[in-house]
Amino acid sequence: MRNRLLHVANSIQQWTKPLKLTSTVLSLGHDASKEDIRKAYRKAALSSHPDKVPEAERETAEIKFKAVQQAYDILYDEDKRHLYDTHGMSAFDGSGNAGMGGGPDLDDILAQMFGGMGGMGGMGDMPGFGPGGRPNKPRKSPNEETKYEVTLEDLYKGKTVKFASTKNVICGLCNGRGGKEKATAKECSSCEGRGQKTVLTRLGPMLTQSTVPCTVCEGQGKFFSPKDKCKKCKGKKVTEERKMLEIYIPRGAKEGDRVTLEGEADQVPDQEPGDIIFHLEEVEHPVFRRAGPDLTADLQVTLAEALAGFSRVVVKHLDGRGIEITHPRTPGEVLSPGQVLKIPGEGMPHKRSDAQGDLYLVVDIKFPDETWAPSPAVLEKLKEILPKPEPPIEAETVDEVDYESNADIEEFGQGDPRGGGGWDEEDGEGETAQCATQ
Ligand SMILES: [Zn+2]
Ligand SMILES: [Zn+2]
Repeated sequence: MRNRLLHVANSIQQWTKPLKLTSTVLSLGHDASKEDIRKAYRKAALSSHPDKVPEAERETAEIKFKAVQQAYDILYDEDKRHLYDTHGMSAFDGSGNAGMGGGPDLDDILAQMFGGMGGMGGMGDMPGFGPGGRPNKPRKSPNEETKYEVTLEDLYKGKTVKFASTKNVICGLCNGRGGKEKATAKECSSCEGRGQKTVLTRLGPMLTQSTVPCTVCEGQGKFFSPKDKCKKCKGKKVTEERKMLEIYIPRGAKEGDRVTLEGEADQVPDQEPGDIIFHLEEVEHPVFRRAGPDLTADLQVTLAEALAGFSRVVVKHLDGRGIEITHPRTPGEVLSPGQVLKIPGEGMPHKRSDAQGDLYLVVDIKFPDETWAPSPAVLEKLKEILPKPEPPIEAETVDEVDYESNADIEEFGQGDPRGGGGWDEEDGEGETAQCATQ
């Protein structure tokens, strides 16, 4: 396949101005599947896209970009690939001596592929790549891209989703012709049968020529008169069909992953149907937060539990299992606010593997609220039991002060005469950020 692609690229090179194609157009192995070819094409097309390179390299990039598309066209289309396999580039390069008597019309193939180069007469100025050429019809109908929201539970366990979808399919009565069996389509006079028109567009200081589909014949170049239209599809060539589809979201999938239903997009006559592509979106979870394969959640304990220990289910996992923790493991150990307990292997599953990430539990201590009304005797007892305070702070004079017991830290810094508002809305000058740490 690699040699073959080089050959394709080189042959294209012969037709065009000197091409600076230094390596393979698409890097592929001998046994590349259609999917491999498509992937390689997308990669190559992206990297050589003329929009992505500096102005000076644009012309080269454009030629390379076209070469990539042409190589892809030949390799992806089974008929052309077969032609190429049996006749080599001579099936395409205009020598016409490929022994194709009775086979497909060479000029037609070339015109389709390379934008009207059929004649192959004057190769000098490459008319095929000019703006007036007939661009290739897409080999594939457009993909349908859609978002799909998934819960963390479903991403943890994997999920099969069934849904009904309505799509266009090639009309079964006229087989996608759009007209009655014996009728012939008339050439569109508006575009003279080309299906598109050349228009001039002003882009800033530049006047560019571009081709747009003809609106009269909807880009078809010809159409059936009303009485000749197919009764079933009314000349549209396609009819709507409702179909049950099923996607599988693998366990361990994550935000941004794509699930593809190949060939399930709307059908278009003479084109391979595109795919329906679902882009997964992770719905925020009330308990767990995820980072790659790891999970984190709060471990809420009471003050008594933090001090005296506990043995209970602390969180319900994404598959419904209770996660039980016994604390302390060595007597006397106390839990502090913000302390982190790591539970290996209780994170998210990795895709296509048995490995799992880890679960990080962050200790959140629930202190007693105002409903807690211990007797003075109990408080005395607590003081006796709990660690003693640090020795008193020595000072020359001592003022006993009053205070608000429920102040808001957002008010901190508001009295700053330099007008630096709240302490957390600074734009990086460091002034108030410094303030906050003083
Ligand atoms: Zn037309
Ligand atoms: Zn029909």
